[in-house]
Parts: sequence; structure tokens; C-alpha cells
Amino acid sequence: MAVQDHDAYWHPGLETQSRADWRQLQLDLLKDHLRHAYDGSPYYRAAFDAQGVSPGDLHTLDDLRRFPFLDKATIRDRQTAVPPFGDLVAVPEREIVYISASSGSTGVPTASPFTSKDFEEWIDYEARQFWSSGLRPTDRYAHALNFSLFVGGPCVMGAQKLGALSIHAGTLPSERLLAVLNQFRATALWTTPSYAWHLGETAQSEGIDPARDLAVRRLFVAGEPGGSIPETRERIEALWGAEVYDYYGLSDIFGSCAGMCVEKDGLHWAEDHILVEVLNPETLEPVAEGERGELVLTTLRKRARPIIRFRTGDIVSVTTEPCRCGRTSLRLKGVHGRLDDMLIVKGVNLFPGDVEAVVRQDPALTGEYRLVLDRVERLDRLTVEAEHTQGFNGDLEELRGRLRRQLKAATGVGAEVALLAPGTLPRAVHKAKRIDDRRQHVWS
Ligand SMILES: [Zn+2]
Repeated sequence: MAVQDHDAYWHPGLETQSRADWRQLQLDLLKDHLRHAYDGSPYYRAAFDAQGVSPGDLHTLDDLRRFPFLDKATIRDRQTAVPPFGDLVAVPEREIVYISASSGSTGVPTASPFTSKDFEEWIDYEARQFWSSGLRPTDRYAHALNFSLFVGGPCVMGAQKLGALSIHAGTLPSERLLAVLNQFRATALWTTPSYAWHLGETAQSEGIDPARDLAVRRLFVAGEPGGSIPETRERIEALWGAEVYDYYGLSDIFGSCAGMCVEKDGLHWAEDHILVEVLNPETLEPVAEGERGELVLTTLRKRARPIIRFRTGDIVSVTTEPCRCGRTSLRLKGVHGRLDDMLIVKGVNLFPGDVEAVVRQDPALTGEYRLVLDRVERLDRLTVEAEHTQGFNGDLEELRGRLRRQLKAATGVGAEVALLAPGTLPRAVHKAKRIDDRRQHVWS
């Protein structure tokens, strides 16, 4: 029976429905959405025809596997071929009211269009997520993410819809942001994990103790895996005296597609908006629940530009086990890394996040780290650079040996360890660069 506790849930009936009801809802939405994509988008019509499938071929959710994949390069190519928004768009332009654009670290940014209804549904979903993380109308929420074309910007309107006082801070210099948080006594803040760490340390260097002197008690973080690595999350929590909730977003869909509830046991997915597949990146077959695979996403409602079977390149694991909060949606258990961040060291798959978990659990280390890869006599060598803390007065050799053993146990890879003085490694203001791969890739 669906729970009807309006204090705990934003949409109680929906959020606590059975798994069978979730699947039926997704199937109904997907049938309609594939038809809409095929009828409205020249790209999807051609792609489905080329694969020999039509929307009428979908009778179960598993039938989606007969439909073609989509990737970032295709979105970009179609935008170039049919400017300015590409022919994945499935509505007349007069119905489009908003676009975000990806930050475009490589090549041309791609635009993600929304109809008026798409936008309203998105903001309602953001409100639902914030509610699940404990945000309430009595909160003062500061949004310290970039607004300039960035899909993360309008998420602040979800907090506003929920009834929280919303402070559209944007990307202010750290000292100014700290002053804003202090002046308006903000109780919640959204930023990246690296920046939350950096901002907390900046505060301390100015003689401000975030836990004692500021009112922030909830931090929402996204954009990097750190928020789902318990060791990282707990250290940011200790620095701020606040709860940290991890969120996952994608520039081509929503600013946030999944977020942690107050139980902090995985990220609840927006299953009435997005269908999740987790596939072996080589065979493209589904992996067993709980195993790591590539996240592949299909929108279920977004009319302006449907996204069908989009390969995100993110390596994740998921679960449908019931959550203690009572919500029944699928949960993301972790983003373990990017397909293109995945290092192969001595034949072993290694993600920076695996190393991060080890480095951040040792109180003798600052938590900053970098992976340096090179090759010595044709053999891979991994060196993990880490910093000891300012007050460390123990035996450096012993610390080095301990870290080496813990890294080997956690990753299966034997690594050299270089201990550096605190403050040696570059601090990230946005996304941290953790890998310095100096190997020659003769096969690429
Ligand atoms: Zn939950």
C-alpha cells in the first residue's frame, strides 16, 4: 500500500509505489515517448528505420534493447548538420522556451532544449529531490553553481518551488561567497565536492570555523564522484559540521537526475522521467544488479528533445532493494568513474575514486592526491602522490608503507607512494584533475 505521509514525501503515492507499478508506469511512458520521437524527430525516424525497428515493436521494457544507441558525438554531429539545435528535436521551435548548453570541454557545446512543460516538470522533480534530502520551506538555500548556460543553474528553482528561501549566488569568489553565507545565515548550499572542501579550508585559513561560525547544515554536491565515496563525504561533513548529499546530473537531460535521500544510501533515480540501463561496455548486455557497468539513459517525458539509449560513459552500480526512507525508486550506488577515466594499470581496471577512498580515510593525510603513471622498461608504474597533514610528526616511512599496503588491498594494484608536504598538490576550484598519465600509448 502506498504511503501517504506528506511530511516525508513530495509525491507520496508515486515515490512509494511498488516496483511492478514503476515498471508499468515506465512502459506506458516509453511507448508514448518512442512514438513521439519517431513522429517528430527526423534523426530518430532514420535511426529506427536503419535498425529495422519501429515504436510498435516495444511490448516490454526489455524490447528497448532492440533500439539503437546514442552518444555525445552523434548529438554534436546532428547539431552541426542541422543548426542550431539538431534534428533530435521533436517539436516545432515555437514550443521551445529554454536551452541549456554543455560546458563543452572538447569541441562545440551542445544545446539541450526544453518546452514549457518539460521545464515545469523538471523543476518539480528538483523540488522532490531536495525534499527527499530534508530541505524544507524554513531553509535558506544558497546555490553556488554557474548559471551561464549551465543545466545545473535552474535547479535552484526547485528549492524555490519547495518553498525554501533561495539565494542565487552563482560562482562568486570564495571570500565573497563565505561573506554571503554568513550575512544571510544560509542553512544549505549546493556546489561540487572539491569546491566544498576548498571553501571549507579557505574559511579556516581566514579564521572562520564553518561548523561553528556558519549556519550551513546541508551540502548538496554534484559533478564528481566524491559525494558517493563515504571517506570523502565524511571528511567534508566534519569540516562543515553538515550533512552532505550527493546528486547526479547530466547536461543533456537534467541538472540533477538522481539524489540522496536523508538515509544517504545511494541516489534515488527519477524513474518517471528517465529509464536506466546498466550495461557491460564491451558486450552492451545488461550486467547483474549491483555489478559495475556503463550507465545508459532514456528520457520518458522530455518532449523537446527525446534522448533514447544515451551512453553516458559513466561507470556505475545500481540497486532496487528497498530504502529505509520508504521510497521504492532505483538507486545509484556509486559513480565509480568515467569510461575514459578508467585506467588500465598492469592489466587491472583502476578508477581514481578507488584510490580516493583509501587516501581520504587516513587522518595522517590531507586527502589531496594525484595518480602519476609512467612506464619503466615497458612496465606500467603507478605512483600515488599524497600529502601528510601539517601537524604530522610520525614516521614518514611507516606512513608510506601503510598507504602502499592499503592501496594494494583496495585496488589490487601495487603502487609507489610519494608523500608530499601539505599544500604541494594543486587545489581544485571546480573539477579536480587527478591523473597525470605520462605513458606513451603506442596502440592509440
Ligand atoms: Zn531513500
